[in-house]
Amino acid sequence: MDNILEIKNLSVGFNIEDNFYFALNNINLSFEKGKIHAIAGESGCGKSVLVNTILQLLPKNSIIKSGEILLNNQNLLNLKDKDIRKIRGKKIALIPQDPFMSLNPLYTIENQLLEIANDIDLIKKSLEEVKIKNIDNVLKSYPHELSGGMKQRVIIAMALISKADLILADEPTTALDVTVSNTILDLLVELKNKNKTIILITHDLSIVSNYCDTTTIMYLGDIVEKNDSNKLFKNPQHPYTKALLKALPTQKGRKLESIKGQISPITQIISGCKFHPRCNYEMEICKNQKPIFKNCVSCHLYNY
Ligand code: SF4
Repeated sequence: MDNILEIKNLSVGFNIEDNFYFALNNINLSFEKGKIHAIAGESGCGKSVLVNTILQLLPKNSIIKSGEILLNNQNLLNLKDKDIRKIRGKKIALIPQDPFMSLNPLYTIENQLLEIANDIDLIKKSLEEVKIKNIDNVLKSYPHELSGGMKQRVIIAMALISKADLILADEPTTALDVTVSNTILDLLVELKNKNKTIILITHDLSIVSNYCDTTTIMYLGDIVEKNDSNKLFKNPQHPYTKALLKALPTQKGRKLESIKGQISPITQIISGCKFHPRCNYEMEICKNQKPIFKNCVSCHLYNY
């Protein structure tokens, strides 16, 4: 398998009021080239910390305790600031939840795109590829003059212009309505068809099954299940994955089930399986012993 990115034994945490709390625990993940990989879970499960660790955009109170992040076999965690800056935007592109964050409100779209590549033909071709019709008008516009969907298309065009092979899409459709969201997700599939690799961070499993090749489910900084998306959706193993799927409005007439309780704050230490306070299958062992990750899942229900 040809992987563009490998994360090995990655543990990251934060100093909060003189104590240290883990936000990612011994994460191991491989991302095959030319696929869309989903990382899913509720807010607070560690998805965004993972993205910010890859891009090295963590806040000052963070500490990377262990691990490697290998981009084409180069460990990003060994790079100096000036070297990681060359990788951000050039080898790894980010599509953020709020596209406004990535666009400078003081400059026209044209000026911002010219900063990435001083080649107006390439810029226009990229805008065409993201299905922007009125290209000359969009180029003359300032970000606030564009809709959320149009801004997100411009960000995707930036990824195309930059020629980055790895694209981190962090909840890229959260701020958009359903029709525009589907268009943006279709564009991600087109990027994949150009042999780009996309890591899609989302809390919304309903978009994952149609668009993503692999799915990783995280809970409070742990990977609890990972598999090919088809297998995971047909036969979910972990009670958290099952609960997330039952909360989706997919089957006609079926009452939506919510997951009991709430995800705990990072500062709350939970012994054993971190999901046990919310799990409908909880056993005595779950309270005291953390399950190991084996055969795609981390749960005491399965034989070890
Ligand atoms: Fe539920 Fe126990 Fe499995 Fe955790 S280990 S998900 S508490 S059954």
